[in-house]
Amino acid sequence: MNSLLQKANILVEALPYIRRFFGKTFIIKYGGAAQVKKDLKDAFAQDVVLLNYIGIRPIIVHGGGPKISSMMERLGKKPEFIQGQRITDKETMDIVEMVLGGLVNKEIVSLINSHGGKAVGLSGKDGGLIKAKRKTLKTQSGRGRGRVIDLGLVGEVTEVDTHILVGLEKEGFIPVISPIGVGPEGEALNINADSVAASIASALKAEKLILLTDVRGIMDRKEGVLSTLTEQKTKKLIREGTIAGGMIPKVQACLKAVRDGVSKTHIIDGRVPHCLLLEIFTLRGIGTEILLS
Ligand code: ADP
Ligand code: MG
Repeated sequence: MNSLLQKANILVEALPYIRRFFGKTFIIKYGGAAQVKKDLKDAFAQDVVLLNYIGIRPIIVHGGGPKISSMMERLGKKPEFIQGQRITDKETMDIVEMVLGGLVNKEIVSLINSHGGKAVGLSGKDGGLIKAKRKTLKTQSGRGRGRVIDLGLVGEVTEVDTHILVGLEKEGFIPVISPIGVGPEGEALNINADSVAASIASALKAEKLILLTDVRGIMDRKEGVLSTLTEQKTKKLIREGTIAGGMIPKVQACLKAVRDGVSKTHIIDGRVPHCLLLEIFTLRGIGTEILLS
């Protein structure tokens, strides 16, 4: 009897959150270990389906970097990166589209569907969802400092057309989006998934933007997790080099989203089973929350 009461109490504790978030849109960036390990994949899909059944509208944006590199190697191409960005020639872009838009996207769709959801896979090309332009990069150090580097078919979002998402959400579908945009000449552009998630969250004025990653959250120099961070503090940590590499596009994504009116942004540990439920339905949450001030 006691354990039954405990179960009832856990459900009742979730009630205020369920009420608050009913009908709200959450953008979730899915990647890392949660996209690889069987038990974590299942727990993720269960969380997404549960959110959907209680009236929250989840939208998934996924990465898939390591799978692109391994397919390139199988096809005899060497992956190359500058400042964490993949150099993407036409052949590489074809591989990105095949792997991200095909294999990885459909795998996530079937995963969610096998747990009782109704997921639909899209790339930024579908329904004109993501318009993009080519992104240039400047060298940050050394003799040629400030020189423009051509990354090839790498893009940044210029416009999001949310019509297709609104339509799918209305019908109870869960959109699963691969981070590929359409450039000015109709060309496919490879975009960082964190920034795609932020742009979609901004365009929909989502309730939450949640980025799953393979660390406990944003860490300070002593590897302690910072549970909240403001814009000012975040910029300072980037200047000092404490926030670096792949964490930079994540914090920039969160800052863009909060500036554009997204209520809450979180960077959480995707290695923890049911990390989404822990973040959404507990008072303390997990990982790092990024706020404007
Ligand atoms: P993802 O696949 O989730 O996008 P990334 O490798 O692109 O992962 O970005 C996350 C990485 O950022 C972490 O694994 C870590 O190596 C790096 N990182 C840099 N600075 C920090 C920091 N201050 N706190 C946590 N991680 C950081
Ligand atoms: Mg990354």
